[in-house]
Amino acid sequence: MSEYEAIIGLEVHAQLNTKSKIFAHSSCDFGGSPNSQVSTVCYALPGTLPVLNQEVLEKAIVAGLAFDCEISLFTKFDRKNYFYPDLPKGYQISQYDKPICRGGQVHFLAKESKLEKTVHLTRIHLEEDAGKLVHSQDPSKNVSYVDLNRAGTPLLEIVSEPELRSSEEAYYYLNTLKSILRYVRVSDCNMEEGSLRCDANVSIRLKGEKDFRTRVEIKNLNSFKAVRAAIDYEIEWQKDMYGRGLTFVQQTKLWDANALKTLPMRSKEMAHDYRYFPDPDLPVIIIEQKYVDEMKGKLPELPSQKKARFIASLGLPEYDAEVLTSEREIADYFEECLQISGDPKKTSNWVKDEVLGIINKDNLPINKFKIEPTRLGSMIKMIASGEISGKIAKTVFEEMLNTTHSPSEIVARKGLSVVRDDKELEIIIEKVLEENSEAVNSYKKGKEKAFGSLVGAVMKHTKGKADPAIVNKLLKDKLGN
Ligand code: ADP
Ligand code: MG
Repeated sequence: MSEYEAIIGLEVHAQLNTKSKIFAHSSCDFGGSPNSQVSTVCYALPGTLPVLNQEVLEKAIVAGLAFDCEISLFTKFDRKNYFYPDLPKGYQISQYDKPICRGGQVHFLAKESKLEKTVHLTRIHLEEDAGKLVHSQDPSKNVSYVDLNRAGTPLLEIVSEPELRSSEEAYYYLNTLKSILRYVRVSDCNMEEGSLRCDANVSIRLKGEKDFRTRVEIKNLNSFKAVRAAIDYEIEWQKDMYGRGLTFVQQTKLWDANALKTLPMRSKEMAHDYRYFPDPDLPVIIIEQKYVDEMKGKLPELPSQKKARFIASLGLPEYDAEVLTSEREIADYFEECLQISGDPKKTSNWVKDEVLGIINKDNLPINKFKIEPTRLGSMIKMIASGEISGKIAKTVFEEMLNTTHSPSEIVARKGLSVVRDDKELEIIIEKVLEENSEAVNSYKKGKEKAFGSLVGAVMKHTKGKADPAIVNKLLKDKLGN
């Protein structure tokens, strides 16, 4: 059978984490009781006028700069007209032909196929969210309620070029998008809470074919897993259609996460169906280049830059750098520890294996982790200087998790510091040699293994607190090597 390739473009909606709505003063907090965060503008009462929230514009520019977009110095809002009960105005305020950002790109690594890729962005524009319909669960009632809390929440729509070629690429593209939006602190990007939503446009064509074929737009993807599964399902569906000599029309489908299927919803609407026109209630926006440059200067270090720095100047392996820079807060925690410990690799190991192990298991953000970076950093410094062994450090770490004590307090209080006093160790070694004459004899006859058991016996006597390097040396001296 001839070989098909997939063509995928994503339209991502990220909710901006502003305090108030895009054109009104009411709150954008998640989870309030129905219609408790609605102003007269959100209700679309006659005579009310929208006023742009400046923070929304700033965050859109920051996001655009983070993706290397061109920021439009002239931008405006347009009305997208349609009827639905969750949209009392009868139109959504969006951006049509003058989006706030154009172009730009996302660079990512598709981990399983180890493919590095750059996908271009078509545009990023601003728009308001609609309200929500809540359908009664009581079958005898057969009613739906309107909750307008979400109406007017600011959204960024990020549209990619159709350059993704597999569900895997779509998945890692989306992860990178999320990571960058969170780094620059413009959105929480929580798919489960709906602050990140994604529609996937999918078509297939024969390899080598020039033109694109009919696409299907899939909506209702509310997890990263769903994005992957829905795209794979849709690719197979289209292959099957063409395989049977059938064609289909451009359409919108819904992903059913229970049935693991895409289901037809409606034939695709076209831009002209919406009768877009400039919103006469809002002035056009003119942005000065100087303002954009200033914002660019304030952009934080992005994940890819941080990762490169961790590898080049801290000498960390690529894998460590990748894990530590996955979230800005984790990278900050690591760097604060490192400032005190002075040992990049040891600090990386403790943060990525122990700290992340616990917070991932408990599903906690790192700033809620019990051990502050200063305490962990001091403990790692004690390991690096040989004051405590790695084994004792585990005990100290456990103790720090349950108390607010510093590592040195814990070591002092529990008498955990390493025995490095040669005199003290010599006495213990004499005793061990006396008690283990058999091992001593077999070592002298050339059995190297016996030496290990003697080291073990010394460690046991000191409860693991002796410095193994010193024990080795002293034992060899005593045994006449
Ligand atoms: P609309 O707003 O009507 O959904 P757009 O032209 O803005 O349409 O495109 C939406 C998305 O569809 C973009 O991400 C684009 O890359 C993608 N896309 C366009 N054509 C195809 C195609 N033939 N196959 C897959 N994706 C496509
Ligand atoms: Mg669309």
